[in-house]
Amino acid sequence: MAAVLPSASSSIVGVLEKELGAAAIVGPGHERLDDYGRDESPLPEFFPPECAVLVESTEQAAAVLRICAERKVPVTPRGAGSGMCGGALPIAGGVVLSTERMQRIKEIDPADLVAVVEPGVVTGVLQAAVEEQGLFYPPDPASLEFCSIGGNAATNAGGPRAFKYGVTREYVLGLEVALMGGEILRCGRRTAKGVTGYDLVAGFVGTEGTFGVITELVLKLLPRPPAAATVLGVFADVAAAGSAITMLLRGGLRPRVLELADKHSIDHIRAKSRYRFPENAGAIVLIEVDGEPESMTMMMEQIGMRCDELGALDVLAATEPAERAAVWQARRLISPALKEGYRIKVNEDICVPRGKIVEMLARIDRVSAETGIATAVFGHAGDGNLHCNFLSNEDPEDPAVRKKMWAAAEQVFIHTVALGGTLSGEHGVGLTKRDYMHLEMSEQVLEWQRRWKLMWDPQNLLNPGKKIPAARRCSE
Ligand SMILES: Cc1cc2nc3c(=O)[nH]c(=O)nc-3n(C[C@H](O)[C@H](O)[C@H](O)COP(=O)(O)OP(=O)(O)OC[C@H]3O[C@@H](n4cnc5c(N)ncnc54)[C@H](O)[C@@H]3O)c2cc1C
Repeated sequence: MAAVLPSASSSIVGVLEKELGAAAIVGPGHERLDDYGRDESPLPEFFPPECAVLVESTEQAAAVLRICAERKVPVTPRGAGSGMCGGALPIAGGVVLSTERMQRIKEIDPADLVAVVEPGVVTGVLQAAVEEQGLFYPPDPASLEFCSIGGNAATNAGGPRAFKYGVTREYVLGLEVALMGGEILRCGRRTAKGVTGYDLVAGFVGTEGTFGVITELVLKLLPRPPAAATVLGVFADVAAAGSAITMLLRGGLRPRVLELADKHSIDHIRAKSRYRFPENAGAIVLIEVDGEPESMTMMMEQIGMRCDELGALDVLAATEPAERAAVWQARRLISPALKEGYRIKVNEDICVPRGKIVEMLARIDRVSAETGIATAVFGHAGDGNLHCNFLSNEDPEDPAVRKKMWAAAEQVFIHTVALGGTLSGEHGVGLTKRDYMHLEMSEQVLEWQRRWKLMWDPQNLLNPGKKIPAARRCSE
């Protein structure tokens, strides 16, 4: 793949305006244009596009991709811009193609158990709409109140409920995709099963806007579980919490959520949490079960007993929605509290085999001690997916400080891979992890991925420079 990124044509704004109308374009001088040069990644840089195009239909998306391909202008697809690794940043300039106006829920079908939606639908809005009809869309990224379904499919987003229900990929049955050059492709199905042909849908999910622009999704739904309950177990340290998780799972429990947070995370939320943590709290485990109310009472008792046997300092069981909200408040406070408390917060979402969680936490502590960079770890322990936050109050603009932060992150990546893990469990690679991919993947695997990308986008114009690193020269 060409290492040199293509440059934008200066006439592109006018051409797009003529084709789609001025109302679709956020162009030079517009007060909102800068917004399209940022996302939620911890990067100090800002990447202004030449313009952003707010498409309202598949045909408009295809027109943008046709015009940009003809003029060799790079295009960066964008949903809600909540990505944490720079995937939606227009690093090569050119055009941002935003799906934020494509917000129609076209169909919710309780008989087929599917929903057909446009990509800009906010995940939480879809969840509420299907729940009103007694149905359930399980993927629940913590950003669900503002991220988009198209972005979720493009990043294969996960969330706490992934432990029982899986990630976004398991819920995307069919896709409509606009390709670079303007072709529109419909692939997949709306049936519960189906094995005909190669699975192009699975091939598109998780490609972070580098293969095509998702313009419609057929999503699998489930019947809504009749009830849910939450337990918070407080332990003296992560080793005790880790053993509790292992024992609970060995006992045959299948919760829908199994979350863990370390002492550093707890210490940051103590003052704000409605729940009063014991003084010596060193780790929390948050467990949520769902199902019939009777079976849940039994499960809750079992979990409580097991946590007590395993030395929990405190166990809090919540069945009523208000009680459950209070328990979740503590967990959801962690990320904002860290963001408030530090000028720099680099959140990496490594994933290790479940049996290696405690070892990984010990290694993260070691990296923190060796580098002098504070860390706080929380996340989806049931999946081995840990959010490792590197924290600093030094100057975020200082390149030396950034270098130090990323050097610590690299150490954690190296330990992750050594334990059989992967660099990202849910956020994706985008820009921030691209140059660490060789730690996890062989050059051969990377090369096949480059070839795959060029099959969909031979001119390397769609979200160039993301997801996989350029080929290394022989001397490197
Ligand atoms: C507070 C917070 C909590 C978060 N929690 C989670 C979590 O629990 N789990 C999780 O997985 N992530 C989480 N995230 C990360 C982020 O919300 C997800 O990656 C989300 O899926 C991104 O959706 P988006 O619509 O904002 O996409 P964007 O940020 O706009 O884009 C993300 C990537 O998808 C591509 N893309 C977007 N739309 C399309 C499309 N229609 N077609 C093709 N490509 C497209 C972009 O080019 C980019 O590469 C969190 C982020 C924040 C800020």
